[in-house]
Amino acid sequence: MTQETRSTCPYCGVGCGVIIESDGAQITGVRGDPDHPANFGKLCSKGSTLHLTAAAAVTQQVRLLHPMRREHRGERATRVSWDQALGFATETFAQVIRADGPDAVGFYISGQLLTEDYYVFNKLAKGLIGTNNIDTNSRLCMSSAVAGYKMTLGADAPPSCYDDVNHAGCIFIAGSNAAWAHPVLFRRIEEARAANPAMKIVCCDPRRTDTADIADLFLAIQPGTDVMLFHGMLHVMLWEGWVRHDWIGRHTSGFDELKATVRDCTPDSVAQVCGIRKEDLLEAARLFATSPATLSLYCQGLNQSTSGTAKNAALINLHLATAQIGRPGAGPFSLTGQPNAMGGREVGGLANLLSAHRDLANPQHRAEVAALWGVPSVPEKPGKTAVEMFQAAADGEIKALWIACTNPAQSMPDQATVRRALERAEFVVVQEAFLTTATCDYADLLLPATTWGEKTGTVTNSERRISRVRPAVPPPGSTRHDWAIAVDFARRLERKLRPGIATLFPYSTTAPEAGVEAVWNEHRESTRGRDLDITGMSYALLEKAPLQWPMRSGEAQGKLRLYEDGIFPTPDGKARFANVTYRPVAEPRESRFPFSLTTGRLRDQWHGMSRTGTLGRLFGHVAEPSVQMNPQDMQRRGLAEGDLVHLTSKRGSIVVPVQGTEQVGLSQAFMAMHWGGEYLGGLSNTGQPLAGVNALTTSAFCPTSKQPELKHAAVKILKAELP
Ligand code: SF4
Repeated sequence: MTQETRSTCPYCGVGCGVIIESDGAQITGVRGDPDHPANFGKLCSKGSTLHLTAAAAVTQQVRLLHPMRREHRGERATRVSWDQALGFATETFAQVIRADGPDAVGFYISGQLLTEDYYVFNKLAKGLIGTNNIDTNSRLCMSSAVAGYKMTLGADAPPSCYDDVNHAGCIFIAGSNAAWAHPVLFRRIEEARAANPAMKIVCCDPRRTDTADIADLFLAIQPGTDVMLFHGMLHVMLWEGWVRHDWIGRHTSGFDELKATVRDCTPDSVAQVCGIRKEDLLEAARLFATSPATLSLYCQGLNQSTSGTAKNAALINLHLATAQIGRPGAGPFSLTGQPNAMGGREVGGLANLLSAHRDLANPQHRAEVAALWGVPSVPEKPGKTAVEMFQAAADGEIKALWIACTNPAQSMPDQATVRRALERAEFVVVQEAFLTTATCDYADLLLPATTWGEKTGTVTNSERRISRVRPAVPPPGSTRHDWAIAVDFARRLERKLRPGIATLFPYSTTAPEAGVEAVWNEHRESTRGRDLDITGMSYALLEKAPLQWPMRSGEAQGKLRLYEDGIFPTPDGKARFANVTYRPVAEPRESRFPFSLTTGRLRDQWHGMSRTGTLGRLFGHVAEPSVQMNPQDMQRRGLAEGDLVHLTSKRGSIVVPVQGTEQVGLSQAFMAMHWGGEYLGGLSNTGQPLAGVNALTTSAFCPTSKQPELKHAAVKILKAELP
């Protein structure tokens, strides 16, 4: 008999509810949950094929089913028991910590993990081991949004919700191809516009994406010039008298300093830097400022930049200057890329954060978390963020790495350095559901984890909504839940490092439903009195419906949107204008590398394809990797459609077919991020084998958010000579 289990899609940050059908042993079907407020029953091509990818993973034998150990690098891994695997991991980590100190180890985790997984890993690193060397692939995805919100609004709390799409008069989309990256939300935008023909959509992006195609106004800006565009719009708003000085006076601080900065951002100069028409700049400013309600949606085009924080803050400045915030349809709404980037932020699962949006740099916050965890202190020394962590491992400073649910040997920029780090590290643990990731090849120890359809816990989507993730089928083979693996390792390690002390991890791993709820309850308690207070929620309430934070004790529901009272979580209750300045990309194109390369997602693929790559039909949209160029550039270089080209940056080179499209501007190129080394044989300048487009990308990062500039590298494109 078919069983039905309500859960959440494991792909993007829209966080759609799904109903999983199973026969108790195998997943047999999936459909959208009509009662889930993120999607009301809709699913995109990825979500609607989850049951097929689950089945394909079994038939294609891509799941990691048992713990495996490699005696020597380069050899085949052999099966070991969980006891042997965790014993080996514990001995090795304890040895490294005793010999070289706690900062000689690092944990690199993932926005694919559930909130409970994240919570335990964070406590393991910061509470037990005493290192802040724990970071996540969300650093590549969301850290600029976090920093932008905190800099301006005082807290990492997206003030808007999906329902705002239905109330907006103007939707301003910046650096987001929502049509492909957040398809169900995009469908909602299309429906809202159909219901309200007066709605205007403005899109700014270097590429004319499918999202840009529905815009009333498309600004094809030069890569990395977003801050200049937003400052130019503010200049126009000031000139035209569209700024809300009354609201600014009551609810903000710092406007005079910003006014002085944008004085020089005249329409002529902005149009020249951004490569757009002056008239379009004026129209964008008018639509944004004079609409009854403006909602901005933004994503990696703003975040993945050496100016990531400044771009986020400059866009939020526009909302503050025009009072387009705290009302239905108005607000700056950062879209999360991964399914639980938000949950990771909530538990402080990044090198610079602590539980419940606390800051590592704040002594009081460290003391609060130490008291919550029952440890003497939380270390003060900042942890290594993603790029810094792999650099430290490449330099021999970090000797043991634990990587969970992510594939840095494909997804991190500057692959030559990352792979050098994985080779040089004395001990690499990879905790994974899929055998096929490039990172598995570097593991000394492989720990098999459960995945979608098997896991239990919670995730938080872009609109602060917490949903349950539920198991429909039993874990296959010897796989275990990510949080439970971390707990069992932690308990063994604490017996070595803190013998005789009561465990910091009192969660049952033999009764996973009770154990995971105990983890979540502890996380909930850590939020008491904080901006994301969820003390009014419980697993029992989440069983009935997903809920948005904050939801304080005694409240019947969470908050749909924030700051409706005009009071912000800053010391004086006022939002802060961020006086940021425009800086060009880290690696401008020049005569030797004359193209700007941007990277991004395809509609039907996800990350490194470990799940979507198992299903032929998901290659129907785009069948193979290519680099896209403007046809005029191809003609000038004597390139024909499908020619193989060497795509080369200062860090490496790959060979890939070229495809002409007017979507890409002159002197620009685009390549999807999904394909790795099995498709693209590439060599670094030092002859190392490399994977995918990240052989070329730069690890230069935003000085505030530490998010790397995956959206821009200077490259050259030369026709490959056939043998
Ligand atoms: Fe899953 Fe995102 Fe598609 Fe929804 S829009 S089904 S969350 S991939």
